[in-house]
Parts: sequence; structure tokens; C-alpha cells
Amino acid sequence: AAKEQGRSRYHLFSNEMHRRIVERHRIADELRVALQNEDFVLHYQPQVDIVSEKIVGAEALVRWKHPQKGLIMPGNFIEIAEETGQIQQLGEWIFKTACKQLKIWLNQGLDDFKLAINLSAHRLEHSDFLSKVEKILLLNNINPQQIELELTESGMLRDTEKALELLNHLKLRGFALAMDDFGTGYSSLSYLKRYPFDQVKIDKSFIKGINQNNDDTVLVKTILSMAQHLKLTVVAEGVETYEQLAYLRELGCDRAQGFYFSRPVPPDEFAESLFASQFNSELSSA
Ligand code: C2E
Ligand code: MG
Ligand code: MG
Ligand code: MG
Repeated sequence: AAKEQGRSRYHLFSNEMHRRIVERHRIADELRVALQNEDFVLHYQPQVDIVSEKIVGAEALVRWKHPQKGLIMPGNFIEIAEETGQIQQLGEWIFKTACKQLKIWLNQGLDDFKLAINLSAHRLEHSDFLSKVEKILLLNNINPQQIELELTESGMLRDTEKALELLNHLKLRGFALAMDDFGTGYSSLSYLKRYPFDQVKIDKSFIKGINQNNDDTVLVKTILSMAQHLKLTVVAEGVETYEQLAYLRELGCDRAQGFYFSRPVPPDEFAESLFASQFNSELSSA
């Protein structure tokens, strides 16, 4: 009976595996069409200075506008795009679209603002990467100083020498570099030491339990004091409540991002709150 049970479990497992493989193929096929039609959109989520509570930047987050299924979140397709190599074309579209949007806002009078763009480490492996980036900057007349590139440690492992060379180049070129999801990977600390990051983003899983869960609080405090020593800016991700914000302020965290301020929203909606906040702060300082 045990053997039979084992066998049926095996069948369940392999059916599940099969189903997932088929599903991934289907998504990759649909992505190919979506890339041709540019069926994507970027949403923007503000990054707020914890002391002044002013918007100092935003993160661009991609969504797939699926003709039948509506908006699909990046957790459901980025990894597949990375596996198939489609991330090159998708990443280029994301960078181009983010730069165009940034230019529009700059032309409307926005200043002291950085746009954060997620960069899949897979793109660093592509020989055309830098020339594509330069072309988009030039076309949109964007200064890299207004852009922050967010990288996670997963995927950076494959060719550390080449990744290091490229990240140094991007940094010299003027981009700010942020380490995303800090604390979730195996080698967050050695990555911080090896690569020229300006900023760390504390992963939202640590912010969740801050103030209630002693382990999370100790970890966040440790990250903050380490970042201070290394002269890195710290952004807390996933700030959902006033209590979390107040506690992070008390601990000396620089910036916050999360549903407490705003969910990621389409560009027009983002611009409304952005220009309202600039206008209000001008009024109050006048
Ligand atoms: P991430 O870069 O760490 O982005 C933050 C994620 O946390 C976003 O999920 C955002 O919607 C979510 N978030 C923000 N505030 C809160 C909060 O207060 N509470 C909670 N529970 N969640 C919050 P999203 O948009 O689903 O993106 C998931 C991940 O997909 C991103 O994590 C990033 O790794 C990847 N991704 C998104 N856009 C892009 C992109 O343009 N390029 C690449 N390569 N990856 C992207
Ligand atoms: Mg990010
Ligand atoms: Mg993150
Ligand atoms: Mg993430």
C-alpha cells in the first residue's frame, strides 16, 4: 500500500510538473505576441522622504495588459521572460517607456526627482545592453543622474566579473544603483561589498513585523546602522501603516515606499498626486 501511495504521489507530482511546463510555454508564446503589440504599461509608486514626507522619486513597475485577462502582475511573467531571453526586449521597452515618461514630467517642471527602474541582471549579459541604454538616453535627452537602477542579487551570480565591470561603468556614467529586496538573498552582504551600490531597499518581508516582531526589528536596525557606516541611502519597502512609518522615522531610515502612501498607479494618476504635492510644498514654504 505504501508503495502504491508513493507511486500515486509521484503521478500527482509529475502531472503538476507537466501542467506547469505547459503553462510556462503558453505564457512565453503569449509574451511574444505582447512584445510585438507592446501590450504593457508602467505603473508608478512614490518614494517618500521620511522626514519631510515629500515625494522624492518613484519606482516604475511593469504590468502586462492582456487582451483577455486584464492586467497581469510582473510576478507572473518576469521570471519566464528571463528564462526565454524575452527580458531583453521587454527590458528595453521598460527603459524606453520610463525615460519618455520621465522626460514628460521634467518638461512639466518636476525637479529633485529620481525615477527608479528595475533592471534584471540577465540584461547585463547582453552585449548590446550599454549601447541600447545610451541610445534611449540620447533620444529622450535624459541625464542618468535622474535614474536609479534597482537590482536584486538573484541572477547576478553567473558572471560576477562582467557584472562588476558593467555596474562600475553605469555608476561612473551617473546612474544611482540600488540593491532591491535587501536581506532576502543568500549573499546580500558580499554583494554590497563587491558592487558599487548607493542605496539598499529593505525587503517588505522585514517591514511587516517591525515594531511587533522582535527579530524583524533587530534586522532592520542592523541594516540601518550598517548602511550608515557604508554611507548608503536606505529605502523601506512595503510600508503599509502609520505605525511602521513612525517607527522607521525614529530609527533614522531615509525613505519609504508602500501602500501607506500609494499603490503603484498609472502615470496620469501619479502625476496628479505628484504635482499636487509639489504645489502644496511650494505654498507652505512661501
Ligand atoms: P520590487 O522591485 O521589489 O517591487 C516592489 C513590489 O512590492 C511591487 O510589486 C509593489 O507593488 C509591491 N509593493 C509596494 N508597496 C507595497 C506594500 O505596501 N505592501 C505590499 N504587500 N506590497 C507592496 P509588483 O509590482 O507586483 O512587482 C513585483 C516584482 O516584479 C518587483 O519587486 C520586481 O522584482 C519585479 N518587477 C516589477 N517591474 C519590473 C520591471 O520593470 N523590470 C523587472 N526586471 N522587474 C520588475
Ligand atoms: Mg524594485
Ligand atoms: Mg523589492
Ligand atoms: Mg522583488
